[in-house]
Amino acid sequence: MTTVTIDSRDEAQRAAWTPASWRGYPVRQMPRYDDPAALEAVEARLRRYPPLVFAGEARRLKAQLAAASRGEAFVLQGGACAESFDEFTADIVRDTFRVLLQMAVVLTFAAKVPVVKIGRMAGQYAKPRSSETETIGDTTLPCYRGDIINGPAFDAAARAADPHRMETGYFQSAGVMNLLRAFASGGFANLHEVHRWNLGFVERSPLAARYRDLAQRIDETLSFMGACGLSQRAPQIDETEFYTSHEALLLPYEQALTRVDSLSGEWYDCSAHFVWIGDRTRQPDGAHVEFLRGVRNPIGIKVGPTTDAADLDRLLDILNPSDEAGRITLISRMGAERVHDLLPPLLDRVRALGRKVTWVCDPMHGNTVSTINKIKTRRFESIVAEVRGFCSVFADAGIPPGGVHIEMTGQDVTECVGGAHRLTEDDLGNRYETFCDPRLNAEQSLEMAFLLAEELTE
Ligand code: PEP
Ligand code: MN
Repeated sequence: MTTVTIDSRDEAQRAAWTPASWRGYPVRQMPRYDDPAALEAVEARLRRYPPLVFAGEARRLKAQLAAASRGEAFVLQGGACAESFDEFTADIVRDTFRVLLQMAVVLTFAAKVPVVKIGRMAGQYAKPRSSETETIGDTTLPCYRGDIINGPAFDAAARAADPHRMETGYFQSAGVMNLLRAFASGGFANLHEVHRWNLGFVERSPLAARYRDLAQRIDETLSFMGACGLSQRAPQIDETEFYTSHEALLLPYEQALTRVDSLSGEWYDCSAHFVWIGDRTRQPDGAHVEFLRGVRNPIGIKVGPTTDAADLDRLLDILNPSDEAGRITLISRMGAERVHDLLPPLLDRVRALGRKVTWVCDPMHGNTVSTINKIKTRRFESIVAEVRGFCSVFADAGIPPGGVHIEMTGQDVTECVGGAHRLTEDDLGNRYETFCDPRLNAEQSLEMAFLLAEELTE
């Protein structure tokens, strides 16, 4: 692997971008495939398959993210830490989508701006890991890197990186995307239905009294809109827009789905509308940044306690040299205790540079803890505290917060502790189903939306 050194202020020195130019840069978090011929054959097939999204949709999303940076929209991005090949069912897709819609209704009402809905869905299959290997007893195997790379079972066959999994990932993404599109436009997303589900949530919540007032006001607003003649079948009521996203981690897959848009002549990564760079792969001189530099999608960058301001400057120079609005979403994941100290200097820096970015809060990844039994969990209260901390940093700066990015599911899992139903560490064993990070369950997600609504209306 050749290492290319780049002067941060003279990006023109970078060689021309191609979908494959990342291969000349140091790459982290990449699996080792033992059979290069099989890998190449899969990549060749993927390059011929139809794209999963249309570039025009990604441009639309970019405009909506630009609006969120100005306080004229609010982003709700959510879904599993990692989707799993085994959970490829209509129910799982439907339930996650439904909870995101329910959250969006509450947030739209509170923020009084459109909510931009983005699923961590239809392609969120690759995971960065903090260690290359996992040891149990005296056996050491490669770590699990997500279903698009290898399998979670602790045996050598499952843990070998298998390129055919990329093809399975593509077809499963296509299946999930198809169902999401059907739900979004086929009547499932009807506002009246979604509101009815929310009423059910409020009545089940131990904190019903607290949430009833907001639900009641939404109820009255819907009746008012109906009385004014807005039909239940009007597209504004009956349909929604929904976008997909995932971490652009497995570059051979992303490269194979990268296509020239016939309308604009520009390159788009057509594996999803929005892709992001994770906390572990955002080195300015690394392969992931090089790859994302050349695609025109809106992209995210995770920003954490280890992000230094100089690196952030360089990333913005490399990834958005023309300072296009909506191109960059900075996803802050500082931790509830540190957000007050770590976020303001970065926010000031970006502002001083005059850069257009959309700031979104990921209150999950800075708040992961282990129980005494070594189970990974997150406290609902810490998650809410980080969102509140994020909002207060923005309020102090006089800038509207752009949105939230959460790991959640529509299932009734027990992975995060706390919330109105007071899940405890003892409950974690009941339905701990994630292969990766702990997710908010359906009720915790909705509760988060109601609490955030209070924050946004204060
Ligand atoms: C994630 O979003 O699942 C993730 C791994 O986040 P981060 O890169 O911020 O650690
Ligand atoms: Mn995660």
